[in-house]
Amino acid sequence: MAMEIAARLGRFSFGMGDRFAQQGRAQLAACVEALRQGVEITPVWNKSHREHAIVGSRPESVRREADDAVAALAWRGAYFVDADHIRMETVEAFLVACDFFTIDVAESIGRAADAASLDAFCADAGDCGGAFGLTRGQVRRIAEKYLSAVQEAARIYRRIESARGRGQFVTEVSMDETDTPQTPDELLVILAALGREGVPVDTIAPKFSGRFNKGVDYVGDIGQLEREFEADIEAIRQAVSRYGLPARLKLSVHSGSDKFSIYPAIRRVLARTGAGVHVKTAGTTWLEELIGLAEAGGEGLALAKEVYVEAFEHREELCAPYAAVIDMDPSRLPSPEEVVRWDSQRFAAALRHDPQCPDFNPHLRQLLHVGYKVAAKMGERYLALVRACGETVARNVTANLLERHIRPLFLS
Ligand SMILES: [Zn+2]
Repeated sequence: MAMEIAARLGRFSFGMGDRFAQQGRAQLAACVEALRQGVEITPVWNKSHREHAIVGSRPESVRREADDAVAALAWRGAYFVDADHIRMETVEAFLVACDFFTIDVAESIGRAADAASLDAFCADAGDCGGAFGLTRGQVRRIAEKYLSAVQEAARIYRRIESARGRGQFVTEVSMDETDTPQTPDELLVILAALGREGVPVDTIAPKFSGRFNKGVDYVGDIGQLEREFEADIEAIRQAVSRYGLPARLKLSVHSGSDKFSIYPAIRRVLARTGAGVHVKTAGTTWLEELIGLAEAGGEGLALAKEVYVEAFEHREELCAPYAAVIDMDPSRLPSPEEVVRWDSQRFAAALRHDPQCPDFNPHLRQLLHVGYKVAAKMGERYLALVRACGETVARNVTANLLERHIRPLFLS
């Protein structure tokens, strides 16, 4: 039997997005440095169908970027390319280039499963061993809400397995893009159902309580999140021992970039439990490109300002697809007239996520986070300047991942 490449994901893995596929090396450099400091973190390059559609790219470009970065930096560890948030309608285009699949079934939550399969599941699951004080009635109510989503995950999983082979890819199931968080007892029932459907899930991304907005810090009760995170790990432990799921199964934290206030809590729970984690970040590398352009001055700064002015003018349409995951107050955006007068340092300070800095503006940051369509439209003009300002851009990309994310989560 071929070696299970899914097993190579390891205890700690880090998902990195790169809208324009220019920063693979600068991103990998953060993992190289973490390894040098003693912690192995598996890099995963993730890009969703939505991002590909907006940028006009194909999954093969992410594979090329990852392979090139790994060769250039002589990275000897494992690495993956993630088909991020795919569904049955979008999976086909990713089957060749990707070896990590984030199966998004949030849309199927709450849909009724057929009565026969619901009865069969409930007969098998019983009260899930009474874990978390569950009763048969509660297991049934949870199954009524989630069984159909699990069945959809199994359908998509089987399509991927038929194309790539069992064990030859990482399976993530995500339920985070929905309104209500899943509780640990719900997670246990979901995992029981995944095990019964024969989905060897490697990582699961529940929706946690609190707000995980794009590109800004966590909003919510950190103590509660810490307890929930630890209880979710306990649900995973029980599910692995009862339902035949892979022992490596771990939690995945989506929209994980910039959640500075919860990293110490996550780190404490990982230390207490010995559990692993996958932390997925996406769009913030593009913001580091803009910071690098601004810091380069001259044409770079001019282009960064042009992106802001254009994004400001189209703020409503840019924000619409992300309404559930941003909290932007348009009245607190600086006017284009004001931004045009800024120097390099002022622009970088407004955008860079340093909560201590009085010039940091989370509204501007969130607008630019979702504003990558503006740069995508500029096409080669944007890309050529990013390459020309490669030094300041790469320095910001690497430092953002290493110092603001990987260090507080995984290094001392
Ligand atoms: Zn997600």
